[in-house]
Amino acid sequence: MSDPTKPETIATGASTATSVAMAVAMAILESRLARARPFNIGFPTAVDIDYVPMARLLAGQPLNNVGDPWVDGIGRNHTKALERWVVGFLADLFRAPPQDRWGYVTSGGSEGNLYALHLARTRYPDAVVYYSSTAHPSVGKAVDLLGLASVVVGTDEVGELDYHHLAGSLVPHQDRPAVVVANIGTTMSEAVDDVRRIGATLDALDMTQRHIHADAALAGIPLALLHPDARPGFDFADGADSVTVSGHKFVGTPMPCGVVVVKASHRRFASWPLGYTASPDSTVTGSRNGHAPLLLWYALRHHGVDGLHARAERSRALASYTRSRLAATGWPVYRSQPNAFTVVLRTPPSPVTDRWALATSDGWSHIVCMPGIHRDRIDAFVADLTVAIASAADRPATTTPECLGSHE
Ligand SMILES: *Cc1c(COP(=O)(O)O)cnc(C)c1O
Repeated sequence: MSDPTKPETIATGASTATSVAMAVAMAILESRLARARPFNIGFPTAVDIDYVPMARLLAGQPLNNVGDPWVDGIGRNHTKALERWVVGFLADLFRAPPQDRWGYVTSGGSEGNLYALHLARTRYPDAVVYYSSTAHPSVGKAVDLLGLASVVVGTDEVGELDYHHLAGSLVPHQDRPAVVVANIGTTMSEAVDDVRRIGATLDALDMTQRHIHADAALAGIPLALLHPDARPGFDFADGADSVTVSGHKFVGTPMPCGVVVVKASHRRFASWPLGYTASPDSTVTGSRNGHAPLLLWYALRHHGVDGLHARAERSRALASYTRSRLAATGWPVYRSQPNAFTVVLRTPPSPVTDRWALATSDGWSHIVCMPGIHRDRIDAFVADLTVAIASAADRPATTTPECLGSHE
């Protein structure tokens, strides 16, 4: 019997028995994924776009954007023109200076953080990195990989950076350059740090040698669609030197990817090795996914700025609905800020968490109201929670602190 996971069975011309075994394996996988899908409300993946029109290019065309997006190189099987379009679209949204911008499509928000911190290190090799205790694990991982000095800064009760604590942490290292990572939507509560306040904190200490990186994995695009006065500062005009987002979160590409945008003038290398591809090796990885820019282009072009804005507004409305439905059950629940897609709740009893895939940490869990999730899913969740609360002996004693409950 052949093993369907062995590569030789993937070649065309497989025996009938192999083809049947493969069809069965795929049917089992598809059915498992279809059964899980309605319960995936705990991780921020938009599921409202159909990529089937892209299927021929996805299935039949090898693509590799090796090297720099702005230098096509020798290979022809790339999507660098679309990658440049995607970077330009986000650079516009994030108000990057028109003559001073660069970026690329990454493997995800994590690689964007690694790239940005590497860039900051090339600018200021002696810098200290400041990031908050609610930063995504990829920030600490990048600090570790790059061997950077770092200080972890405290937050308020919903997870936003404590600016006084930041100031206090900066003072002992005032003579060294500062790299500050701003959370533009923390992973657990979607709290948003304010890059303008971070800038003002550095100004007050006369710290001009600085690099502010905005980790805007989920919330960057939705926030950029609001008027700058109606949201915290996070983009280039607000003082950021680099911004990164995930592509599979708000945009909703079917595979993980991301985009990093930086000020081009921050790049210090006079020349990158060209090597055998004839395109500068200016990114973190070597070969790069050429299908990701294609799908990002497809989704961003399909929705357009107005469509993206409407999707974000629908998600916020669903998050508000979710918060009030959950609050009505008496279960502790909050939103960290009025634009959050994320609704945080005390981790429900196990009959609920066994069924629903909820991200969970320190006794709290969350639902992220992504495009493609509708009220019926929330209603089903609330129904399950209501049953579980009624039969559970171990209701959490803590109710929601008043300060957490203010955002409808
Ligand atoms: C999801 C997330 C990341 C990591 O992004 P990936 O695309 O999963 O690599 C980084 N930062 C924050 C705040 C996130 O929520």
